[in-house]
Amino acid sequence: MSVAVTFQKVTRAFGEVKAVDAIDLEIEDGEFFTLLGPSGSGKTTCLRMIAGFDRPTSGEILLHGRKVTALPPYEREVNTVFQDYALFPHMSVGDNIAYGPLIRNVPQAERQQQVERMLEMVRLKGLGRRKPSQLSGGQRQRVALARALINQPRILLLDEPLGALDLKLRQEMQSELKGLQQRLGITFIYVTHDQEEALSMSDRLAVFNLGRIEQIGAPATVYERPATAFVASFVGTTNLIEGALAQKLTGQSGRFALRPEKIYLGAVDTPLMEDAYCLEGVVKEVVYLGLYTRYVVTLDGGGDLIVVQQNLVTGSTTASAVRGGRVRVQWLRQHLLALGE
Ligand code: ATP
Repeated sequence: MSVAVTFQKVTRAFGEVKAVDAIDLEIEDGEFFTLLGPSGSGKTTCLRMIAGFDRPTSGEILLHGRKVTALPPYEREVNTVFQDYALFPHMSVGDNIAYGPLIRNVPQAERQQQVERMLEMVRLKGLGRRKPSQLSGGQRQRVALARALINQPRILLLDEPLGALDLKLRQEMQSELKGLQQRLGITFIYVTHDQEEALSMSDRLAVFNLGRIEQIGAPATVYERPATAFVASFVGTTNLIEGALAQKLTGQSGRFALRPEKIYLGAVDTPLMEDAYCLEGVVKEVVYLGLYTRYVVTLDGGGDLIVVQQNLVTGSTTASAVRGGRVRVQWLRQHLLALGE
């Protein structure tokens, strides 16, 4: 596998603030790679430096093995799709898409053919004459995609491209984007603060915090084996177990993560499971969410535990009836995950 993007100790400082702090990173050719992190963690700055809109204060960036740190955007085989689409409002959809080939002096007939192919690819066939204002948000985002892809970039950068869409449309576009990336086989680098989006689309993802990467890995690895407390709490919901409780359960100090869906909740006379930890407490909160119910259990020794149970047989009434009751919570030892700093 060849490498599409390499960061070597890349730092970007704005005065005192290190937006990106000595990052090393390798993104493979053909990968769907996501930069995930909270607002202000440095994701967009990384993307802008790959595109060439911004430059590192120190360190080097390589694209397909070539140093590009000082190259302007138009000399990089990279295109960007932005959240706000950045379409030309006065131009038709077709002309928007044809913009790149027009600048490169591609002859009219060939340009037209390319546009038709792109319209088909992003499922907008027949809409080429409309203005962007006559399209829905999802359709505009597809125009922005087509306008980038017509340039046949080796790397496509996507900066929160689905941020403006409602949930249902966002989910549809997520699977469309993933399908498109797999068909084209080009590298997609995707910025989002939405962990579900990152988990559902990426081959691998990098979790950003304060200008640094806390973990890089496949979605399942990052979710099931979070390296740090930050990753455990940012990617999915997690119970952090530390201090006296950690000591009591494991005999060690340190921090551990426990996912809410790994915990069995039952009456206090529920038989004890093998190779499991067991605690008791009182149900403080019950939130029925259709697919599952979320419980907050206050443990006898102090502290709260979030527990999620799929509603296999439970209805909203039975779930609520548990509130205030005493319960036993258990989980397999292997699901208590030791965390690094
Ligand atoms: P968001 O999801 O909100 O876009 P992000 O993770 O993409 O956040 P960046 O936009 O990369 O974060 O910003 C990282 C840090 O760098 C922030 O603290 C931000 O305020 C700062 N920063 C970014 N651009 C500039 C700039 N041009 N001048 C000064 N500070 C900047």
